[in-house]
Amino acid sequence: MSDPYLIHGPALISFSGGRTSAYMLWRILQAHGGTLPDDVHVCFANTGKEREETLRFVHECGTRWGIRVRWLEWRSRLKSVPVAERFEEVGFNSAARNGEPFAARIKSKKSTPNSVARWCTENLKVLTLQAFMEANGHTKYANVVGLRADESHRVAKGRERGSVMPLADAGITKRDVMAYWQAQDFDLGLLPFEGNCDACFLKARPKLWEVERTKPGTLQWWSDMEQGHGKGRFVTEYSYAELIRDVRRQPDMFAGGLFDDDPDMDAECGLWCAGGAS
Ligand code: SF4
Repeated sequence: MSDPYLIHGPALISFSGGRTSAYMLWRILQAHGGTLPDDVHVCFANTGKEREETLRFVHECGTRWGIRVRWLEWRSRLKSVPVAERFEEVGFNSAARNGEPFAARIKSKKSTPNSVARWCTENLKVLTLQAFMEANGHTKYANVVGLRADESHRVAKGRERGSVMPLADAGITKRDVMAYWQAQDFDLGLLPFEGNCDACFLKARPKLWEVERTKPGTLQWWSDMEQGHGKGRFVTEYSYAELIRDVRRQPDMFAGGLFDDDPDMDAECGLWCAGGAS
């Protein structure tokens, strides 16, 4: 059986900034003797609402392992805009940290995403990565995503789309990934529910309370989006203004269920629905 971590280019490795995709990246790098082929691109799509810990982790993986990670941000999805201008390449220092790409998309779309219309993943991540590959001359390429063997539903979808999933092929589970990171001298430094966008609407209500309780002010951007450019709410049942009020009224409330698995939030955003040509 061939080594699942040997990637044949041209290929796009989606690096979400989570532990699983970072682990996959490390294994791929080892399989290639420490240097990736020139036509295997490692890309991180920044929404502007990533936690600083995530940005640092992406930066650290790249510098420690000697990998060129391409930091990309959404700029446009208009077909009339040249593909190379539909995203911008940034770096650790210049990466947006106040939700600018996300806010710009909400403004142009005149609505907020929600769990049914989750266009944020598609626009800010999937299409942005695709635009990068196309701008670099690749219309056909392997789409390499960090889905594990214990994410069987998503893996099945990934197979339908023709994605390359080395971790799933190698039988890697969450336990393997966590064991790897526990043995390292650096780590993401976030709890599972703190990953992805800082107050993503897919996080359960108690987790959003906890986000605001431990990092006051985090939910304000989301509330501003609901009241500003966006029409509607991120979540039908409650607004982010209400969540903020809840926490102000009861700052010491215990948010139970923090470690329950949310079906969507235990996955790294942008991977489970990554399309791409393959
Ligand atoms: S983490 Fe949540 S808010 Fe951010 S892009 Fe993904 S689905 Fe959208």
